[in-house]
Amino acid sequence: RESTEVSLKDIDHAANSSFPLCMRHLYAKLKEDHHLKHAGRMQLGLFLKGVGLKLDDALAFWRAEFSQKVGAERFEKEYAYNIRHNYGKEGKRIDYTPHSCQRIISATPGVGDHHGCPFRHFSEENLRAALGQMGVSNRAMEDVIDKAKNRHYQVACTLTFEAIHSSSCDRGINHPNQYFIDSQKILQS
Ligand code: SF4
Repeated sequence: RESTEVSLKDIDHAANSSFPLCMRHLYAKLKEDHHLKHAGRMQLGLFLKGVGLKLDDALAFWRAEFSQKVGAERFEKEYAYNIRHNYGKEGKRIDYTPHSCQRIISATPGVGDHHGCPFRHFSEENLRAALGQMGVSNRAMEDVIDKAKNRHYQVACTLTFEAIHSSSCDRGINHPNQYFIDSQKILQS
């Protein structure tokens, strides 16, 4: 499998350039609230693992945010275990894999949750605002919105990818980590 590697100091930059909208949203909310609920931590945490963030960097990353909200001690007690668990270092020692689009799209986020797929779970107004922030032009935006309305969420994501990279993505988007890898390939070429 193709792999890339991202270390702690590169995450901000990578998030800006190569994260799909679902992960940008979680990332932005984490930075804003210094907190994410469990399902959001799983969705973003496993994605970051897939992106190549090592366990020590992952712990430092989550600690830097969560300790601002709950304090370092509570972070170690209540949250660090789950991060090590995601990396297969606790419990049954299963090496969990990052969630696919299909799985993320079928999530049912409730109030205060930020996981899920924005193309499915955002209101049209919020989706338009988020796409604008990503740099999707007005012309491309109508196509994306149209696909999302017609429940073609992954096609909407693919069109978003194509709009902001000015490059085609013939195989389509079916996994957030694939989005990341394809984006990095284009940006590094
Ligand atoms: Fe994320 Fe997939 Fe939705 Fe794109 S289609 S925002 S990669 S879940």
